[in-house]
Amino acid sequence: MTISWRITAALAVALIPLLALPAEHGEAAPARKVASAKPKPLPAPETCDPHKFRIILDVGHTSESQGATSARNDVEFGFNLQLAKLIGEKLKSASFAATRVLVTEGKAKASLLKRVGTANAAHADFLLSIHHDSVPDKMLEEWEFDGAKSYFSDRFSGHSLFVSERNPHFSASLAFAKLLGRELKDKGLQYATQYSLPLMGRYRHPLLDKDVGVYRYDGLVVLSQTRSAAVLLEAGSIINRDEEMAMNSPERRELIAAAVTRAMRSYCEKR
Ligand SMILES: [Zn+2]
Repeated sequence: MTISWRITAALAVALIPLLALPAEHGEAAPARKVASAKPKPLPAPETCDPHKFRIILDVGHTSESQGATSARNDVEFGFNLQLAKLIGEKLKSASFAATRVLVTEGKAKASLLKRVGTANAAHADFLLSIHHDSVPDKMLEEWEFDGAKSYFSDRFSGHSLFVSERNPHFSASLAFAKLLGRELKDKGLQYATQYSLPLMGRYRHPLLDKDVGVYRYDGLVVLSQTRSAAVLLEAGSIINRDEEMAMNSPERRELIAAAVTRAMRSYCEKR
């Protein structure tokens, strides 16, 4: 997630007023500050022609600010990039020729506005932000990996999907998230249920679809400030030791990329 889960609680508290970034992927400033900044929606096209449908695959985090650290000390940015590239290839070979993998540079907060700016300037039709999940610092346990003190939590696993009601195409975003959640469920994957639990504190979110795991997360910059429909996919947990291995496998990446492609085809056909 954006600001490392491993920042100590005290440091995180100290940084919140400074960065106005109380959440892992860069939650927007409090609602009163962003309410007036709701982006104008682009007029929705009557139909969806896959060849012209401009999909942006937003690679979560940057080479400078790499997101979460996995149980085996790999960075989230690398997982995000690898998966986004494969999804991009699959979408292109499924006729979504205008798909673009977006890699953004710079520090965490600045990169959020940059990626939104790029998507809006490119008149994107859809933005899918790719991430991998971790847990709040208080849940981390220590272990040794490769001779180094490392951290893990096997308590939770699974993917999750997030949409923002502040996005100008909220219902379209939700429709895609449900389609993708359905595809992943049909492949036997269970979504991450912990985001609806009180123990998640400020990371708790309303569960909009209990069947396939779609959560509402209004403050996320990449969802709320993008003019196109937008969904954030947490593809799986890399702090869970078994799931990290799965997320690192070509088979799991293939499965997710195929699921995204099928979901996008259905979404496009229904427009
Ligand atoms: Zn992330």
